[in-house]
Amino acid sequence: MNRDQVTEHLRFAKELGVTGVSRDPAWRTRTGDGSRSEPDPTPVPLEAIPVALHANQADALAAVRADIGDCTRCKLHRLGRRQIVFGVGSPEADLMFVGEAPGADEDIQGIPFVGRAGQLLTDIIEKGLQIPRKDVYIANVIKCRPPGNRNPEPDEVATCEPFLFQQIDIIKPKVIVALGKFGAQTLLRTLDPISRLRGRVYDYRGAKLIPTFHPAYLLRNPSSKREVWEDMKLVRELLKSEV
Ligand code: URA
Repeated sequence: MNRDQVTEHLRFAKELGVTGVSRDPAWRTRTGDGSRSEPDPTPVPLEAIPVALHANQADALAAVRADIGDCTRCKLHRLGRRQIVFGVGSPEADLMFVGEAPGADEDIQGIPFVGRAGQLLTDIIEKGLQIPRKDVYIANVIKCRPPGNRNPEPDEVATCEPFLFQQIDIIKPKVIVALGKFGAQTLLRTLDPISRLRGRVYDYRGAKLIPTFHPAYLLRNPSSKREVWEDMKLVRELLKSEV
């Protein structure tokens, strides 16, 4: 079987309700009543397998994107979203930015952070950090635009965040910048306000995570750019260090 056939096979198994696989021989041994003897308690989740089969990060990300498909897993697909906004940038980026959810411009273009807030984020990356935007990776906690730019709801986050986690695990950035209250609170599983979360470095899925203010907030509160600049200096130091 080639890779595509294996991926297809796994997708079909998932449709049949299979949730994971294990190499433990006990899984292949059935008792007289048809039940498995001693199942491995930690089977590999099926979602992880197509990714593990891919030789490089770009292919692995493409597999995640293919798995998302024309997603109808949560209610946002019938609440006016035009398209899924998966993520943009280098699959091998050392630095990743995570925002909240696509806005109107992102929904039209299918690319995260392309509106006014996006332009400010691009300036922070290119003028502040002196890194070309194409060399970082940018994604959101959820991949579809909520109607009227309302906050994502808990069921939408719960449905969508596993795809962000897969993106992070594939890209393996050294540093993740969580943009704004929503991104930081979701990733860090806390309700602390962004003003309390920022200014510190957190260990997160093998990366160093730095929360900072959202560019849309900076458009309304330009005086907070000073704090964001402090956070970006920390980002620069961490990128230089052997994290
Ligand atoms: N705000 C976000 O959080 N994400 C985008 O992609 C655009 C605006």
